Amino acid sequence: MELLKERQDQIHRTGEEPFALVCNKDSLAGAVSQRACVFCGSRVVLYPIADALHLVHGPIGCAVYTWDIRGALSSGPELHRLSFSTDLQELDVIFGGEKKLTAALLELIERHKPKAAFVYATCIVGIIGDDMEAVCRAVEKETGIPVIPVQSEGFKGNKRAGYTAACNAMGRLIGTGYTADISPYSINILGDFNLAGEIWMIREYFQRMGVEVVANVTGDGRVADIKRAHGAALNVVQCSGSTMDLANLMEKEYGVPSIRVSYFGVEDMAQALYDVAAHFDDPAIMDKAKELVAEELQILLPKLEFYKKGLAGKKAAIYVGGSFKAFSLVKAFRLLDMEVVMVGSQTGTEEEYRELAEITDPGTIIVDDTNPLELTSFLEEKEVDIFVGGVKERPIAYKLGVGFCDHNHERKEALAGFSGMLNFAEEVYRSVMSPVWRFT
Ligand code: SF4
Repeated sequence: MELLKERQDQIHRTGEEPFALVCNKDSLAGAVSQRACVFCGSRVVLYPIADALHLVHGPIGCAVYTWDIRGALSSGPELHRLSFSTDLQELDVIFGGEKKLTAALLELIERHKPKAAFVYATCIVGIIGDDMEAVCRAVEKETGIPVIPVQSEGFKGNKRAGYTAACNAMGRLIGTGYTADISPYSINILGDFNLAGEIWMIREYFQRMGVEVVANVTGDGRVADIKRAHGAALNVVQCSGSTMDLANLMEKEYGVPSIRVSYFGVEDMAQALYDVAAHFDDPAIMDKAKELVAEELQILLPKLEFYKKGLAGKKAAIYVGGSFKAFSLVKAFRLLDMEVVMVGSQTGTEEEYRELAEITDPGTIIVDDTNPLELTSFLEEKEVDIFVGGVKERPIAYKLGVGFCDHNHERKEALAGFSGMLNFAEEVYRSVMSPVWRFT
């Protein structure tokens, strides 16, 4: 396979060489990375806060690119689904966009009455140097709601820098709400974005265990909840790439500890509930967690048998945003008796890739921040039956005549939790076994 020389150290084959993989570095210029920019990284994290105004300070294209970018559902307001932009033009680039930003904020806050406003910096704002901090401070004073600049200039790093910018922005809200009425058995759910209603299911599991959920960060999120999130006893962090910075910040400033979990796949979902129960060290909570897992498995496992029979031995490739999700997917495919032959992510860390190398079979390709040409050659080389990815990976699979499962922001199917595992098996089965591939 032809590889760009500069990309060679970001690809590893399990078992074929000692583990060494370079990651978390800027994408190679011209390689057409699958990865999103810093601005997009922060937008995807903050976007599901449904009663906040999200204003993109930049050219219209940045706002359109991220318009309604996640299938993040809300149980109430839906202001997050509108994409506002200051629509910077040539004259603004020459004379500055601060006046336009002030006018846009005042008009939008008056019209939509949000509980807070996030203002996102894009590449051009970083270049012309608008003082977003000063504008936000002035508008906050005038309107009385938090107006928070998100320092997410697209070019200033990779997608992870966008996650950090989003966490810093939320950090300004946290610590400003009332917490005296919060239970000692309480958590915040970090890093679940309520795709297809998943956070409602997860919240229900915790409620069944007798654990109060203070804030969703950020799926179906509310400004008032995030303001009081520091009153929770524990941060439960999924998708650690996107919200771990916030968990660290809360530990440092408010002493709230955190644990990392995943809600994908049977093993990880159960482990997440047990880990939360273990943290509270209360036998009643642990008993309820065990009861819940037993009940759910009793329903799920017999139903999975049908899919396992059809899918046994089929080959899967995974390319997702954060590598923590990849672990769960590897295990979920194993539960279906399938073989994972490639796994990669946009933003994994060296430690995460090392762990992936440990849990995958010899010959599995592990890749950081890849591009369409590499992905195409991996899928062909490994004769993959199904590719799991997001919106940018879908056309690659279809062009090659390979089944595809959307496991990213845009999906409309709940794949988390126990019932999510069944949906996942169903979707993989339908895609892999579809007769359409005979005609490609
Ligand atoms: S911030 Fe920059 S890289 Fe990101 S979408 Fe806008 S112009 Fe493109």
